Amino acid sequence: MLVPKSDLHNNRVVIASNRLPVNVARTGGQLQITPSVGGLTTGLSSFHRCKGGLWIGWPGINPTSSKTKVDLEKTLQHDYNCLPVYLSASDLKKYYYGFSNRTLWPLFHYFTTYCTFNASEWETYQKVNQMFCQKLIDVVRPDDIIWIHDYHLLLLPEMLRSNIPDITIGFFLHIPFPSMEVFRYLPWREEILQGMLGADLIGFHTYDYTRHFFSCALRILGKEQVFGQINSGNRMVRVETFPMGIDADKFSEAATSPTVKKEKELLQNNLNTEKIILSVDRLDFTKGIPEHLQVFERFLEKYPEWHGRIIYVLLCVPSRTKVEEYQQLKSEIDEIVGKINGRYGTPGWQPVLYIYRSLPFEELTALYSAADIALVTPLRDGMNLVAKEYLACQSQTKKGVLILSETAGSAAELGEAFIVNPRNIEMVGEAINHGLSAPAEEKEAWISLMFQRIKTYNIFRWAEDFINQLAQAREQREQSQHRFLTKENQAEVIESYRRAKSRLLLLDFDGTLVSLKKRPEQVRPDSKLLKILSALKAEPKNTVVVISGRDQNYLSDWLGKTGVDMVAEHGTWLYESTGGNWRLSAENITTYWKENFYPVLEKFSESTPGSFIEEKSHALAWHYRKADPELGQQRTKELVDTLRTLLSGTSLQVLLGNKVVEIKPSGVNKGKAALHWLEKLESWDFILAVGDDWTDEDIFAVLPEEAWSIKVGFVPITKAHYFMSSSDEVRNLLKSLAGA
Ligand code: UDP
Repeated sequence: MLVPKSDLHNNRVVIASNRLPVNVARTGGQLQITPSVGGLTTGLSSFHRCKGGLWIGWPGINPTSSKTKVDLEKTLQHDYNCLPVYLSASDLKKYYYGFSNRTLWPLFHYFTTYCTFNASEWETYQKVNQMFCQKLIDVVRPDDIIWIHDYHLLLLPEMLRSNIPDITIGFFLHIPFPSMEVFRYLPWREEILQGMLGADLIGFHTYDYTRHFFSCALRILGKEQVFGQINSGNRMVRVETFPMGIDADKFSEAATSPTVKKEKELLQNNLNTEKIILSVDRLDFTKGIPEHLQVFERFLEKYPEWHGRIIYVLLCVPSRTKVEEYQQLKSEIDEIVGKINGRYGTPGWQPVLYIYRSLPFEELTALYSAADIALVTPLRDGMNLVAKEYLACQSQTKKGVLILSETAGSAAELGEAFIVNPRNIEMVGEAINHGLSAPAEEKEAWISLMFQRIKTYNIFRWAEDFINQLAQAREQREQSQHRFLTKENQAEVIESYRRAKSRLLLLDFDGTLVSLKKRPEQVRPDSKLLKILSALKAEPKNTVVVISGRDQNYLSDWLGKTGVDMVAEHGTWLYESTGGNWRLSAENITTYWKENFYPVLEKFSESTPGSFIEEKSHALAWHYRKADPELGQQRTKELVDTLRTLLSGTSLQVLLGNKVVEIKPSGVNKGKAALHWLEKLESWDFILAVGDDWTDEDIFAVLPEEAWSIKVGFVPITKAHYFMSSSDEVRNLLKSLAGA
């Protein structure tokens, strides 16, 4: 792992999110600026306030007069370090209420039946992401760290990257990333994944979301993750898990402040009840509010001893009020609340206290602190900060119990809570009953453990952790970019070739001279490539060797006419044009073992549709390029484990290539074959070696320091000194050498 040379703590952080941390609204002809509600803005605002920087987003209003726009922009920038992106009503309708909240939001929360897939909304989503991109281009400085947030701006990382290639970009998703089976519904799934991959670092709340993202990148884009990184052309994108925290001390201290204590007393006097259950949710179908109410109703039915002694405070914060489904949900909740209060209420007791508005901080913390049970049971939630805020407010008294849904991201960290299936009404009701009678010392122990965790990994640690990892990702990108063979480097290669009297060119075939195909037999060297190889070979100062994993017949048939030297089966067979015959690279290479191992590979082929066995004269190869990629990876692990046991004590080895596992005699590899030519002269004036996969690393390992070694495609670890992006680039270089 690379350690950053310079950290990014002094660089300006520019946050981009759909909403600014403040909301601007017109009341009585005046513009009013108030804090925005919601997990993302509440959490990040603490970081932004303390760090400064800049925040770009929608202010909640689009003034018609340009003077008002300019004035507001000045106020927002001066007083809040915010820069507004003004959106028209029609853009907002299609980008925000449309694609963001009727496509991505329900899809990513597994509510597929709520999804609409509308091409015109998708277009507007792209347009608005482009507007954010332009705003950033206008204001960013080269050293800024751009931190993009959430599902409204999934395309922005790549848009920005293509405009400012060297900028540092982090992206964090605050909602779940769904499993491949759900994500694949999206007609624009490739574009969304590519958009995200423009970042240097992508963060998710839980490991489950991270693993779903890896799975989608692999199965949809064919991009494999290596050590938590995905190759995106000429750079690696890190993907990591960062469970978002809260400003735990702020909530903990507030809960014992005189104002909140007073507020709490007032509340307790007003409610005048033995126990309080509390839930705090934005009004959203993912939060499962009707299900909370069903739980409470069933609880009252099952445990009549609590009648008259308990009140359920249902705090719903209005959200997306213009969307029809949300209006329907509101009516549904109103109805159920009325039903429960009608059925169980008495003149002196109203079982459900329904509050439909956003509460100021002091009132909210008083509620958290007074509640005996927090019912945090969303049907699906990216993280859920309410659970953490409740724990922080209980950290002094330690009297409360948290009932938490297993489908909330925070459940991954808060294992001491009562973890429940939010759709299992009986289970949640029983958890309430247990929670109400839990011994004080147990409650104390649970709260202490969980509070300690959220206090340690708080919002500041979360942000710091993200920025640190981003610094490392940037460092790695910069280091690797220096290793891409630029035009100037190529001119140097050509110049050193021109000056040399003895030149050795060691060239891998598949993935280096020709691009990879699903079935290896479909690959044919075209006439242009053959011309280049012939021209290079025709130059008397040159020795050209194609070092391949393919068998002799293929190489002879397709490359024989060029006259180049050849190595087949990863070094088993050598061919020198001067000798004119193929010969084994060592005398003791055997083949009798093949009949024992063929059945093993056959078993793996049968259980992995799309995979097949290739029999070579002295090797057996199992290819899985056409198989389901995840199944292929899994079977590879199993096969390698099986073979390691079976091969111990034999003179055979397992070789892992690009989507291929090969069994072959040990002591044979491309590096040994390369040495055969390298040792022909005491020193060569010019050596060039080009390869694309793990088997070529053996060649790079035996080269002298001054050799030009080039890896095709980017990987974080290689012995090659330089990278090239594609086999086309390699051909161009070889063509230039041939003409030099
Ligand atoms: N919240 C608020 N006022 C309220 C109720 C809630 O500001 O009256 C805040 C609460 O403090 C929390 C956020 O809204 O920080 C809700 O975040 P959560 O992650 O639980 O859910 P989200 O709304 O992001 O889906």
